[in-house]
Amino acid sequence: MTKSDKQGFITANLHADRNAKPEHGVLHKPVHTSVAFSYDDARDLAAVFQGKKSGFNYGRQQNPTVNALQDRVTQMEGGIASTAFATGMAAIGSTLFALLKQGDHIISSAFLFGNTNSLFNSFKKFGVEVSFVDTTSAEAVAAAIQPNTRLVFTETIANPVTQVADLKGIGELCSKHNIIYIVDNTMTSPWLFKPVTVGASLIVNSLTKFIGGHGNALGGMLTDTGLYDWQTYPGIDDTYKKGDPTLWGTTQIRKKGLRDFGATLGPEAAHHLAVGSETLPLRIERATDNALKLAQFCERHPRINKVFYPGLPSHPQHERTNELFRKPGALMSIELDDSIDCFDFLNKLSCVVASSNLGDVRTLAIPVAHTIFYEMGAERRASMGISDNLIRLSVGIEDIDDLIQNFDEALR
Ligand SMILES: *Cc1c(COP(=O)(O)O)cnc(C)c1O
Repeated sequence: MTKSDKQGFITANLHADRNAKPEHGVLHKPVHTSVAFSYDDARDLAAVFQGKKSGFNYGRQQNPTVNALQDRVTQMEGGIASTAFATGMAAIGSTLFALLKQGDHIISSAFLFGNTNSLFNSFKKFGVEVSFVDTTSAEAVAAAIQPNTRLVFTETIANPVTQVADLKGIGELCSKHNIIYIVDNTMTSPWLFKPVTVGASLIVNSLTKFIGGHGNALGGMLTDTGLYDWQTYPGIDDTYKKGDPTLWGTTQIRKKGLRDFGATLGPEAAHHLAVGSETLPLRIERATDNALKLAQFCERHPRINKVFYPGLPSHPQHERTNELFRKPGALMSIELDDSIDCFDFLNKLSCVVASSNLGDVRTLAIPVAHTIFYEMGAERRASMGISDNLIRLSVGIEDIDDLIQNFDEALR
């Protein structure tokens, strides 16, 4: 047992870099910008390339600063290995590219981050079948399983209508059918929810959001929980069936995904994200407390038609939220009354930023139908419950009185 195994989430993360004994006794892993790495004996370089010795060969595949961040997220998620990417989208795209081939079938939540939805539709062009189903129901997922189903992909809390997937039910199903289970934990982060507890095989985190927390760096992470037996997966190349089988999936994702696609996380961004991650629990707890109070205010307000927030008893998956998550998170959406112009409303909110990002310390708001969900068209939007007057809010850590006063004034 290492020192950090005995520590709590926050302590272990605060001391993660130092416990790994970095150079000069520094508290943060330094930002290593070198792209190349050298060895006194050229044979060592060959051994590193052949995977016989651990070490660094080229910055597209590995970097000491980025590796330190990978280790932090592995620790936060309770996984066995993580692979960092330039963005959350790169993590998802590179992973699926590394694992799938023509003729494979995947089941995805129908309620997805817009760009993930767009990405999965692109996979169809390469002969991967995709079924979009309502993942709030494990039965709906079960009904979509085919003999060639390779993986199930779902988010924890969907954006923008905040549906909460049947994460446990799907986990049991995937385990029974030996299907890879990928959970995008971006909305909850490992502080509110650990997908490993419901049997996830792989976990996606967009580090850009709550883990980084300050809207100053992009990044994505893919964590293997160690629960899936890669020896049973038909899509592992013979080349990567070497050594510890629990790492075959990670090896293939690193080689075919990260190395060949090259969506590498830079060391400066990794440093920003690592420092941001140190306050993740404090920020998300505070933001969640704010979100609940704001949601309660909005639910009572006569000029707001609907409030979508899993922390409200009126939310269809409120009980599941309480069962699965430490807290219901900082993401909510509100549907304004038709008498309000959503753009005028946003312009009146002085301490809320109109922006597409989320998970920032500042409260961010966006009219979804006109922006992030514009491209998918009115019909698909309607099927997802997204009206033209729907505003998505990523609640920040401001003084709650300021937020509520701001909303109160803007709604008048
Ligand atoms: C933002 C987001 C992503 C993509 O992350 P980027 O870092 O912006 O590429 C993926 N999934 C979810 C749920 C997200 O919110």
